[in-house]
Amino acid sequence: MYTLVIHGGAGNITPAMMNKEQETQYTAGLKAALDKGYDVLKNSGSALDAVEAAIIIMENDPIFNAGRGSVFTKKGLNEMDAAIMDGSNLAAGAVAGVRNVKNPITLAKAVMLKSGHVFLSGSGAGEFALTNGIEMAPDNYFFKKSRYDQWVKIRDSDYTQLDHEGDNLKSVLPQTGHKFGTVGAVACDINGNLAAGTSTGGMTNKRYGRIGDSPVIGAGTYANNTTCAISCTGHGEFFLRAVVAYDISCLMEYKGLSLVDACNTVVKDKLVKMGGEGGLIAVNAKGEHEFSFNSAGMYRAMRNSDGAETIAFYSK
Ligand code: ASP
Repeated sequence: MYTLVIHGGAGNITPAMMNKEQETQYTAGLKAALDKGYDVLKNSGSALDAVEAAIIIMENDPIFNAGRGSVFTKKGLNEMDAAIMDGSNLAAGAVAGVRNVKNPITLAKAVMLKSGHVFLSGSGAGEFALTNGIEMAPDNYFFKKSRYDQWVKIRDSDYTQLDHEGDNLKSVLPQTGHKFGTVGAVACDINGNLAAGTSTGGMTNKRYGRIGDSPVIGAGTYANNTTCAISCTGHGEFFLRAVVAYDISCLMEYKGLSLVDACNTVVKDKLVKMGGEGGLIAVNAKGEHEFSFNSAGMYRAMRNSDGAETIAFYSK
């Protein structure tokens, strides 16, 4: 069975926070990404290409906090992180703190395939993008009024904010800085190969140079054919410290846990005890998938070759 699973961020996503128009927008945004990525799998494409294709659609859609819709840093800039991993050979590529790159996931894939390295950051990653024909975009491409207003409200404070928290100041965390809204995809292709990818603008008002979990292999992103592919979204500092994605893979590899038990152990027990809010998507080499989150909701969707399809926002 081949399967594509995507997310568009976790957070305080409840029916009370959303109006009909937003529900329609997020449904359409997730569906467009699902269609694009699933087509790759249907045409016998690789999990890696399906993950990239789905993420590009979400990076181009300003409703998500990645690529075009990225949030603003403390300096009023857009700095993006992304990673991609191929579970068939454990190859990985990642970028952190990149600016003016239209599709950071494509840059991460180019790092994996062409740089001889795994992880490039800041101006070095930007230079690699320019010399490898990666599409760039001017600052105004990344400007979205709602994200800008979100930042203006807190720019003179030490607060950072989760993307999907609206004006709920309870969710504004002092010093740690934070916002959800990241996008991600995991896939199992027709050959049973797995891949994972994650892309984000990070958190509103994050410090200059702050890097979250999303581009860190083993924290926000991980894929290994023998266990699972994982893409996380949530309060990155906690996901980094809990090494979430690799921890789930290890629970499966060394302790023999099922996909669902491994995900729930980390998301609903370990992270909760640490105070880390968020969630993840997961798939194994049988094409079985899991959505696991400890926040009120997570934008999520999946489709598989058995004909199952889900698009959901709120907790079950
Ligand atoms: N995990 C991301 C970060 O901390 C944010 C998110 O998932 O929305 O940068």
